[in-house]
Amino acid sequence: MAESAPPLYHRSNSFTLSPADGRYVLKFKVLVTDGIDAEGIAILSGDPQLAVDEFPTLPAAELIERIGDYDALVGRSATRITPELLRAAKKIRVIGRAGVGVDNIAMDVATELGISIINAPAGNTVAVAELMFGSLLNILRNLSFADRTMRAGEWRRSELLGGELKGRTLGIIGLGRIGTEVARRASAFEMEVIAFDPYVPDGRFQGLRVQRAESLVALLAHSDVVTVHTPLTDETRGMLGRRELAKLKPGAVLLNIARGGIVEEDALAEALASGKLAGAALDVFTKEPLPADNPLRGVPNLFLTPHIGASTLEAQRNVARDVCAAVRDTLLGGELSRSINIATVEGVRWEQLKPALRLSERAAAVGRAILATQGNRAVQRVSLRVGATHLGANEALLSAAAVGVLGGVVAGDRLNVINARTLAAQRGIELSAVESAAGTDDDLIEIRISAGMQEIAVAGTAPATGPVRLTRIGAFHVDVQPRGTLLILTNEDVPGVIGRVGTVLGEAQINIAEYHQARLAQGGDALAAVSVDGAVGEGVRAELLGIPGVRTATVVTFDR
Ligand code: NAD
Repeated sequence: MAESAPPLYHRSNSFTLSPADGRYVLKFKVLVTDGIDAEGIAILSGDPQLAVDEFPTLPAAELIERIGDYDALVGRSATRITPELLRAAKKIRVIGRAGVGVDNIAMDVATELGISIINAPAGNTVAVAELMFGSLLNILRNLSFADRTMRAGEWRRSELLGGELKGRTLGIIGLGRIGTEVARRASAFEMEVIAFDPYVPDGRFQGLRVQRAESLVALLAHSDVVTVHTPLTDETRGMLGRRELAKLKPGAVLLNIARGGIVEEDALAEALASGKLAGAALDVFTKEPLPADNPLRGVPNLFLTPHIGASTLEAQRNVARDVCAAVRDTLLGGELSRSINIATVEGVRWEQLKPALRLSERAAAVGRAILATQGNRAVQRVSLRVGATHLGANEALLSAAAVGVLGGVVAGDRLNVINARTLAAQRGIELSAVESAAGTDDDLIEIRISAGMQEIAVAGTAPATGPVRLTRIGAFHVDVQPRGTLLILTNEDVPGVIGRVGTVLGEAQINIAEYHQARLAQGGDALAAVSVDGAVGEGVRAELLGIPGVRTATVVTFDR
């Protein structure tokens, strides 16, 4: 019985004739839509391995009809990535969203199908920060009113006594990417800056010369201007409601250019109507587009913009370049660091993790195959134990182990580290990471698999350079590369077995790359881990099982 382990990340296999040199090159098809900036598209079309088709935003039905041809899709929020579309996208490996929000993507379905989702969270920070100051200056100088009355033929100069930024205290809620850019610019305006962000360490505050507010209430009480730059989460939804707005200084200004729903719209309207707040700006709303009859449109001193925070030429170019390069790297190199629907490993590029992932997957495939040879095919549990080197990568390594366990078992060619855990959970397989005992090798990765009444642990090491090696199979110490085809034999420790195995393989023209024999005690149980170059078919396996003393023969085939 041959067990095959799939690669961590599959490639589509459309081949196209290269016009450059007449050779066939692997070519992926990318559908680009929603008016992605040309500089981003140039990154994709500049690669000879990628064929790019650009369409304006397509009606849902037409997109569903076309999508089956493509390996990747790059778009913006106008294209809704529905479960139906994802299921029709039989070849798709990666979807790039040129922007931050992924509310338009059925993320659970994409993850279940093993489709990598990439967004571009960083390209528009400056655009948003600048809009915040534009809106604030507009409010403090009443520019919209000035412009409106001038156009109406009026000259209301005496009503236009504004205020300055210099010397005012700016309170930033959320000192992330955008909050940081806002803080930098606020210093240039000679504002005092305080911020509330319990998730950011002191060092960031010090680096930016921003004073830390110990609580949201403290920030509200001390700020002349409050600006929100957090994501919309369960914690931040309604974070600024009636009670919080009441804590603001009289005459304060409030801006929300982050996400609708963080500031309660009714409470804001009341605070403006009562004169408690001098002004406010909203670029984002609970319901977008803002309905024509929404009462916010009539609230005094409220500056409204239609979610244009990221709408600058530069931001669109930045996010397009960023997401297109990431989509290219995912397609061509299997680089998954940018996928937002995968277990992330802080500070480590996916590339660096590859040896450890390969070992985890292959050790799991070996364990699964051995149990299957013993008649236990239904894996119930997979647990992972790692040494210090790999501690931070537990989640990703478990995903890789799930790939190893499910390879050749689940239908579909899209099993990968993105969807393996979901698929395992759907099959009732428990995945867990267990604490390492003291004295565990720093480099160790051990996968323990339970099926039926049996359990087996397969361990190995994955150095940063050099091949990964299996160092233990069950109780037996081995030293063999899990590559090509791995043959695992259990036998009685009697003379002649090694020679006969060599003869059977030699007669079948199968070259032995490594042969590692291990035994627990003289004359007791023995295990041979034999790495061979060719395939080992059922006939050869039957011959091996016919050798006196050989009890089991497991064949595991790896993709390379
Ligand atoms: P980010 O993830 O870099 O920063 C968010 C910060 O909020 C983090 O530092 C986090 O620690 C902090 N935070 C989270 N929960 C908090 C809480 N309860 N209290 C205080 N701080 C909290 O995100 P970013 O890129 O800076 O984006 C900020 C917001 O701007 C997001 O909501 C994003 O969707 C929005 N945005 C809007 C537009 C637009 O067009 N208006 C464009 C881009 C981004």
